[in-house]
Amino acid sequence: MDYKKLKFETRQIHAGLNAQEPTGSRGVAIYPTSAYRFKDCEYAANLFELSEAGNIYTRLQNPTTTNYEERIAALYGGVAAVATSSGMSAIVTALTCLASEGENIVASPLLYGGTYNLFRCTLRRLGIEIRIAPTTDPADFARLIDDKTRAVYAESMGNPTCEVPDIEKLGEIAHKAGVPLVIDNTFGAAGYLCNPFDWGADIIVDSATKWINGHGTAMGGIIVDGGTFDWGNGKFPNIDGPSEGYHGLNLYKAFGNMAFAVKCRVDGLRDLGTCPSPFDTYLMMIGLETLSLRVRHEVESTRRLAEYLRDHKAVKTVSYVGFEEHPSHKNAAKYFRFDGCGPVLNVELVGDVDTTAKFVESLELAAHMTMIGDSITVVTHPASTTHKQLSEADMAKAGVTPTLLRISPGLENIEDIIADFEQAFAKALK
Ligand SMILES: *Cc1c(COP(=O)(O)O)cnc(C)c1O
Repeated sequence: MDYKKLKFETRQIHAGLNAQEPTGSRGVAIYPTSAYRFKDCEYAANLFELSEAGNIYTRLQNPTTTNYEERIAALYGGVAAVATSSGMSAIVTALTCLASEGENIVASPLLYGGTYNLFRCTLRRLGIEIRIAPTTDPADFARLIDDKTRAVYAESMGNPTCEVPDIEKLGEIAHKAGVPLVIDNTFGAAGYLCNPFDWGADIIVDSATKWINGHGTAMGGIIVDGGTFDWGNGKFPNIDGPSEGYHGLNLYKAFGNMAFAVKCRVDGLRDLGTCPSPFDTYLMMIGLETLSLRVRHEVESTRRLAEYLRDHKAVKTVSYVGFEEHPSHKNAAKYFRFDGCGPVLNVELVGDVDTTAKFVESLELAAHMTMIGDSITVVTHPASTTHKQLSEADMAKAGVTPTLLRISPGLENIEDIIADFEQAFAKALK
């Protein structure tokens, strides 16, 4: 089946299903197995030297996960996908397959906190330098690129500020330097809201924990290979060159435009062990079947909530990418569906850290957690949770003010959430 001819909503249900499945089962089976019997020694040897495709060990592949990877690749229009155990493991696996000690990656300053720490601490300790651009102006990225650069990295919509970089320009800059553009597309919802492959990205990473799963029930990540990058330009001897782990096999010559995905699997998953559980990839498959419906509802709810909060006397500021005054509204409208109206908003309440904590504690429906893309509406108060250890000055540097809240509307009827906010405001401001 050529999935490219089908619309997103159809692909999210049909891609990765096997109509010829011998049991007639409508859905995919969960294979809770760590290993697979080899029919003979020659077959086993072929699998190990990558001359034949097949199952060896669940750290490398699993039939349930393979179905899910096919669905993801079809949704993005990529050549292959590799599922991992979390969004963070997708990022680590992809980036360590691109850059080695002494090389660097040029990254956007608008990054998820976990990614920021990975870049600033752990990858640096491993000898991979991450050069964070001072702003999202593509010229600032270009200035940091040198002959040791192996990728340009950005989030399609930054967590939590919802700022959107000029993805197309970043692609041009990366390609001019002979390196791939890697986009964390968690906010792009598996390509439904934004597909960075349409704008020059070569590799996508995505935290499947968020909108792909959609119900807050499992951790996961994915790496998608767009199949567009020329690995034969001399900068990637790990991909176009003798592979130490495979008796000198050249992955680019053997696997062509899928070489990067193969690299992430046969070196990345094999050596780092960042594989997902088949139970979790099954949940991701189920989540994907309703992704477009859920995300559309959440985008509409986010707008309704933003409009309600903008006019509320208990609210000081509303930062919502769907409003024209948001600094990234133009880029969001260009790169994201629904005129750039994202699924998350940030607000600052009037009052102080204590009244804000009181508001959060008074919510009865909305959950006080650190999560986005859940079916439950989530409200996060960074000043009393993730950023509590920081001084007020450091908090300000991180863009966190005492009354800031990040809100990710869920699947409830938003009028019930608004009523919940009303009663919590009344208690907090009493
Ligand atoms: C949550 C998140 C991650 C990390 O994903 P996990 O699944 O939590 O490991 C990475 N990038 C972005 C933009 C995220 O929101």
